[in-house]
Amino acid sequence: MRIAVISDIHGNLEALQAVLTDIRERGFDRVVCLGDVVGYGADPEECVRLVREEVWRDAEREAVVRGNHDDAAAGADDRYFNPDAKLAVRWTRENLSPESIAWLSNLPHEIEYEHCLLVHSSPFQPKEWNYVTTLTEAWNAFQCFTRPVAFIGHSHVPFTVSLGENESHLQVEPDICVSMRARWRYLTNVGSVGQPRDGDPRACYVAFDPDEGVIERVRVEYPMERAAEKIRQAGLPDFLADRLLKGR
Ligand code: ZN
Repeated sequence: MRIAVISDIHGNLEALQAVLTDIRERGFDRVVCLGDVVGYGADPEECVRLVREEVWRDAEREAVVRGNHDDAAAGADDRYFNPDAKLAVRWTRENLSPESIAWLSNLPHEIEYEHCLLVHSSPFQPKEWNYVTTLTEAWNAFQCFTRPVAFIGHSHVPFTVSLGENESHLQVEPDICVSMRARWRYLTNVGSVGQPRDGDPRACYVAFDPDEGVIERVRVEYPMERAAEKIRQAGLPDFLADRLLKGR
């Protein structure tokens, strides 16, 4: 079983298409999504449509969790957003079909699936949209799940932190490909498909093989100039276009 974990697409259709093509070529068994399908980018409706088509579903559910931008686009409180994000969220709301808004507003905050937990922000109080940017925050997150791995998004900065046997110590895994150790647990931020912020502007996702015990970060080139131009043409803030090219 090989699972592709995608997150933080943010209405960037060019990046999503490139990632889904890569996923198809590599022959994954499943695709799961950690939310923020919309917000910031110029193609929210198309991204919702594509995620609904391509992300794995079984008889009971789609493997997509809710992000804070999905939440706000579907009508939740956006007062805590910065001015650019707020403007983009309101634009997004106006450019989504009622059907897509209904779909976004029904997404769950967490999904437990086989070996992993899927959540947008942190397993620690997921409805509060907490960030995991320090080891203390990672520690808090580890207290809130029992599966071998939790996959998160939200900060758009990929990393993996591991918790040693007997919960003995926490460490940041330095490699992009992590071989899981028996009885250790892992917290992986899968990075962002549509608005990376770790200095690498290429789209990012994670390949997870629970049988082999491997968590691997994947980067994919995509036509970012085109996605940036669409943001400018939509009248969204220039900053949101410029940052795609910088990956910050
Ligand atoms: Zn996001």
